[in-house]
Amino acid sequence: MDFTLTEEHLMIRDAARDFAQTELLPGVIERDNAQTFPGELVRKMGELGFMGIMVDPKYGGSGMDAISYVLIMEELSKIDASASVMVSVNNSLVCYGLEAYGSEEQKQKYLTKLATGECIGAFCLSEPEAGSDATSQKTTAIDMGDHYVINGTKNWITNGGRAEVYLVIAQTDREKGHRGINAFIVEKGTPGFDIGPKEDKLGIRGSDTHTLQFNDVKVPKENRIGEDGFGFKFAMKTLSGGRIGIAAQALGIASGAYELALKYSKERKAFGTEISNHQAIAFKLADMATEIEAARMLVMKAAWDKDQGNNYDMSSAMAKLYASKVAMEQSVEAVQIHGGNGFVKEYHVERLMRDAKITQIYEGTSEIQKIVISRGVLKSIK
Ligand SMILES: Cc1cc2nc3c(=O)[nH]c(=O)nc-3n(C[C@H](O)[C@H](O)[C@H](O)COP(=O)(O)OP(=O)(O)OC[C@H]3O[C@@H](n4cnc5c(N)ncnc54)[C@H](O)[C@@H]3O)c2cc1C
Repeated sequence: MDFTLTEEHLMIRDAARDFAQTELLPGVIERDNAQTFPGELVRKMGELGFMGIMVDPKYGGSGMDAISYVLIMEELSKIDASASVMVSVNNSLVCYGLEAYGSEEQKQKYLTKLATGECIGAFCLSEPEAGSDATSQKTTAIDMGDHYVINGTKNWITNGGRAEVYLVIAQTDREKGHRGINAFIVEKGTPGFDIGPKEDKLGIRGSDTHTLQFNDVKVPKENRIGEDGFGFKFAMKTLSGGRIGIAAQALGIASGAYELALKYSKERKAFGTEISNHQAIAFKLADMATEIEAARMLVMKAAWDKDQGNNYDMSSAMAKLYASKVAMEQSVEAVQIHGGNGFVKEYHVERLMRDAKITQIYEGTSEIQKIVISRGVLKSIK
């Protein structure tokens, strides 16, 4: 076993840390208040190769491994989880989905732009009546010969307003159940495709989340991803990798909150001494450091499994389940260590605490991760 990061990994981590400190930190409170994220920052993340981290350079990507991906995600998430969710969706759901399962034409036409950040993508699975139960798709895609016609509603879509390319999951043949589901590439501006207003959220407020409406949207047949009926498998496979990104996001939120709390504990005085000298605070820091390190091990293991070509369904679910719990619990502790200052925006930890919650909900709630893990555990005994 070797826990050492390579020179290249360290360089990538430092580049992401530097970008987060110099470009994301200024204005992060204002962006959270205003629920905005400037296109200019997305463009810069594209220039640094963050929008297509694992994509083959022949399609415009950075050709890095999954370990690099989680290192970048952790550093961005320490400062701005709204930025990192855009990176995560674009990388592990949209770019990975197209690179692994798209046709060569689809890769040339869409992946090359998505991987460089020239445009960004959205992944559209959830519906008002199909969240955790993703097989209950009500959106339909009727086969009309040379094209499909899509009708329905998708909700909670990250990058819903700013994306140009949407991967849309829809039911073609209800009788075939989940084997009758397909995935399609839909371009912004296609007639009948409408984007609803932005959601007003608890956390990751800089990230735009929208409901999408499809009214007789014509999609050419060549925009279907994979064989007829592959859509549900496509969604599950991409989400399995997506969970590594969200686990890394949770790790970043937890470690960002921890670093702020550690620094504050050495500065703030109470009863004539720095609060870090009170054992109650020192033990909180000890617990935070331990929990975060445990989460880091699970996140790295899941990324390593992906890099090795191992099955990572279980390890990514474990990493997301655990890291999101750590993010939630330890960001609350970071607020506590800050006392009253933890409750105001200026000190950043209240935002991290609000941002932490989503990591237990999207790309499969914690309860759904337990279903995935328990299935794997039970299958391992004959
Ligand atoms: C900010 C944000 C961004 C998102 N981005 C995207 C996106 O880009 N693309 C996309 O497709 N979706 C996205 N989602 C949707 C997200 O993935 C779903 O909200 C999530 O999967 C849960 O579905 P739901 O909200 O319908 O909750 P429900 O499925 O209704 O679940 C409600 C509760 O019941 C529990 N539950 C449900 N079924 C079971 C079960 N079998 N056993 C035990 N407990 C169960 C859940 O864990 C949860 O606690 C986003 C959501 C949010 C809030």
